[in-house]
Amino acid sequence: MAIKTIKPRILIVGAGLGGLTLAQSLRKQGIPFEIFERDTDAHSRFLGWALGVHTILDDLVSSIPDDLPPIKESITHLSPLKLEAQIAFYFHGKHIAVQSTPEQPVIRANRPRFRDWLSTHIPIQWGKRPTRVEQVQDEIRLHFEDGTTATGDILVGADGVNSFVREHLLGVPNKELLRPIPNCMISGETTLSGEAFERQLSIAHSCYVAGGPASSNYFLFVGLNRVSPDGKSGRYYWFTADKDPSIANEDHWSKSASQAELYDHVVNLTSTLEPRFSEVIRSTSVSEVKAKPFIIRDAEIEHLPVGRITLLGDAAHPMSPFRGEGGVHALRDALNLSKAIGQLKSNDTKEIESLFGSYQKEMLERGARAVRASRSQHSLETIADGQIVAWGQTPVEVPDETITIEACLA
Ligand SMILES: Cc1cc2nc3c(=O)[nH]c(=O)nc-3n(C[C@H](O)[C@H](O)[C@H](O)COP(=O)(O)OP(=O)(O)OC[C@H]3O[C@@H](n4cnc5c(N)ncnc54)[C@H](O)[C@@H]3O)c2cc1C
Repeated sequence: MAIKTIKPRILIVGAGLGGLTLAQSLRKQGIPFEIFERDTDAHSRFLGWALGVHTILDDLVSSIPDDLPPIKESITHLSPLKLEAQIAFYFHGKHIAVQSTPEQPVIRANRPRFRDWLSTHIPIQWGKRPTRVEQVQDEIRLHFEDGTTATGDILVGADGVNSFVREHLLGVPNKELLRPIPNCMISGETTLSGEAFERQLSIAHSCYVAGGPASSNYFLFVGLNRVSPDGKSGRYYWFTADKDPSIANEDHWSKSASQAELYDHVVNLTSTLEPRFSEVIRSTSVSEVKAKPFIIRDAEIEHLPVGRITLLGDAAHPMSPFRGEGGVHALRDALNLSKAIGQLKSNDTKEIESLFGSYQKEMLERGARAVRASRSQHSLETIADGQIVAWGQTPVEVPDETITIEACLA
């Protein structure tokens, strides 16, 4: 059969962090693609709280077109405050932290801003949920819920933890593959201003983990999602992670609990924490407690079939958020995959298999290591054994700080 010499057409399912990074780096290389997203528009769904972007910032910026606005100013959650991203850990009398430095920069991104920035000049096809994948010889055809179809040469599943493309590729239902992390995680959000805001910024600029007493096995995570335009108040989110192997059981108490009962549970749980840590919970109203606790699931995938369909990001290595690196692996995958696609000289299946085989081997090994390492950091006992990694670094002891909003706006 004659080998086509045209550039392969790439179909991307999922316009999240990984899918959009792939789209941008294909755009830079002039490779044709289509990107499909189940959301009906950019802000139709809660996208999640802030996330730390680290380790690959230089690579990310050099791999995408230069018509995007400057990254830090566009996506940081701290704007308009002049502060660097910082995560702190407080447990058993210790205070350690990782902070962005010129040598090891970290940007704590507000997710909607990050997605908007990555979407610049990308023609996302919204409201597109695939129902079926058909492969006829060298051609892939995607069928969507709305009755439309799309055809291409390569299909990339960038569709997150509950990936549709992964189910098709592995033939294993997601509910069999994904394992729950044994934590009961109750969350809420609140807005803090004035001295309360300054107290939280002094504990950590971006987010922190506060551990309960040595006899307990829970921790509280508190994060700043965004700052008001005048810099005077911050929207905070928090969750408690309480070791609980029965969390996935249908009859777990939290599944039928009311918001008031969930609130009382976290207030009791965190009653032995220093007041400056539990302040964010006490400032949350019952209606601001999320109605359902969230369950994190992960999976170690050792092998994927090699062919015209591949995966990246959480679709390939869903992991718990405790080391703050799942998103960075999704970006790393997208950059590596775009380089592999850029090397294709034809649409020949053997050439695709050779380049995708190498891409998948590195991606799955790196992903599985990250899944295991992130899982091992899910409870206070593992955090307290000193093996913590956050944003790709080992936190170090730091002095306490006193932050004023006035100084941060000057
Ligand atoms: C609380 C929390 C904190 C985190 N903190 C960090 C951090 O600090 N640093 C870090 O690096 N990572 C962090 N992560 C992990 C990070 O959020 C994920 O690893 C990252 O979002 C994965 O990117 P992705 O592109 O693979 O998937 P996603 O960002 O989930 O994107 C998938 C996209 O596909 C779409 N989609 C899904 N199904 C379909 C379908 N069937 N058809 C079409 N579209 C579909 C979704 O709507 C979504 O837009 C955190 C995660 C959590 C939960």
